[in-house]
Amino acid sequence: GIKDRKYKRILLKLSGEELMGEQGFGISPKVLDKMALEIGQLVGIGVQVGLVVGGGNLFRGAALNAAGLDRVTGDHMGMLATVMNALALRDALERSNISSRVMSAIQMSGIVDHYDRRAAIRYLERGEVLIFAAGTGNPFFTTDSAACLRGIEIEAEMVLKATKVDGVYSADPKLEPDATRYDKLTYDEVLDKKLGVMDLTAICLCREHNMPVRVFRMDKTGALLNIVVGGEEGTLIEE
Ligand code: UDP
Repeated sequence: GIKDRKYKRILLKLSGEELMGEQGFGISPKVLDKMALEIGQLVGIGVQVGLVVGGGNLFRGAALNAAGLDRVTGDHMGMLATVMNALALRDALERSNISSRVMSAIQMSGIVDHYDRRAAIRYLERGEVLIFAAGTGNPFFTTDSAACLRGIEIEAEMVLKATKVDGVYSADPKLEPDATRYDKLTYDEVLDKKLGVMDLTAICLCREHNMPVRVFRMDKTGALLNIVVGGEEGTLIEE
């Protein structure tokens, strides 16, 4: 039967890597469709969904900087990359008959809406999926920080961070087979153990505003739905 939602409003962070699928670069239409399906299941049980997409599948400011580009220019390119991903995601959602909208931190009239917090909350209440693009709009930040920021702003009950592994491990499980997965962590434990789940800015922001973060594996079919009905997946980071 249909399960009851536990959360009414969530912020889901999808990294660019998630959109890439098995390819080494770019956007996988197959992955987009699978995501649209899973996000549609949340909307179907009345969960309001805000999304923040990364851009690492296309450009990363720090990587471009290492290759000789100006960092700020690279970060601008990275933020534009998140807008491309957001457009692709919106397209996939709309093709699955899920109303959605892109709001960008950088104004891009005629392509996407400009971010407006009050309007965002109104659209969410109407059941539209809101895709927040262009990160925070500032260089030297990441889309993880943008996810925590938007999550706090729209008063989401939790930030869900989709990753390749099913939670936070004591070490990289690919390199160290003995690595163990944490079910729960506090913000301070993440910082003290230097677990590198999210950047410091993102973790500190969540700690400051008591925003729980759940790290889970998006590839695992049904995991996302399980979380919003109160299931345990991956690692929960909270006070
Ligand atoms: N970026 C930025 N400010 C932000 C968010 C992102 O300058 O608030 C740039 C930065 O260059 C970053 C790139 O956009 O490397 C893509 O974002 P991110 O690396 O967070 O994407 P993900 O790793 O989630 O795919």
